[in-house]
Amino acid sequence: MDGRTFRNAMGKFATGVTVVTTKSGEDVHGMTANAFMSVSMDPQLICVSVGHNATMHNKIKDSGKFAVSILSDAQQDMSNYFAGQVKEKKDIPFEWIHEYPVISDSLVNIMCTVYDAHPAGDHTLYIGEVQDIAVKDEGEPLTFFGGKYCRLNREIEVE
Ligand code: FAD
Repeated sequence: MDGRTFRNAMGKFATGVTVVTTKSGEDVHGMTANAFMSVSMDPQLICVSVGHNATMHNKIKDSGKFAVSILSDAQQDMSNYFAGQVKEKKDIPFEWIHEYPVISDSLVNIMCTVYDAHPAGDHTLYIGEVQDIAVKDEGEPLTFFGGKYCRLNREIEVE
């Protein structure tokens, strides 16, 4: 299977978009990720898949904790920025929840400690045990499909 076919096929799975953040020593780091999922209710676990080439990989390994901010459709600029697609470095005004830096105005912020880490090929699956959650009542998600950002279309008719 060639890489392009694999990428195209995986891109047919529509997802939301998150920014994973952590504080390692005095360094705060953020990275865009859509390989995110809920894993378990008891205990409450979530998972993010982080590439071994990403700076975030060692940052999470060092800090043992991370947060996931689920982006709204008004935050495409944050997704682009934390995916390294903007040249100039910005001074990001992170919001702080306990000792976790998070992206303010996101739909949800999930604060986790690392429960487990599973290397899988060129990525590591970081399982996070949820320590706290902040949910915003309003807003629509930023979505990603076929390599492009999208908005939710709620006009599907139920048969
Ligand atoms: P860098 O590339 O070093 O950082 C990303 C950007 O954020 C840089 O511009 C950096 O300057 C800036 N930045 C970071 N921290 C701060 C800070 N404290 N203050 C100011 N600026 C800061 N990769 C995965 O591994 N898993 C995924 O699930 C995943 N999903 C993705 C989904 C989408 C929609 C996109 C567009 C990309 C995705 N990527 C994913 C790719 C990933 O986001 C990029 O490869 C990213 O650049 C890797 O992050 P890094 O940790 O190496 O950080």
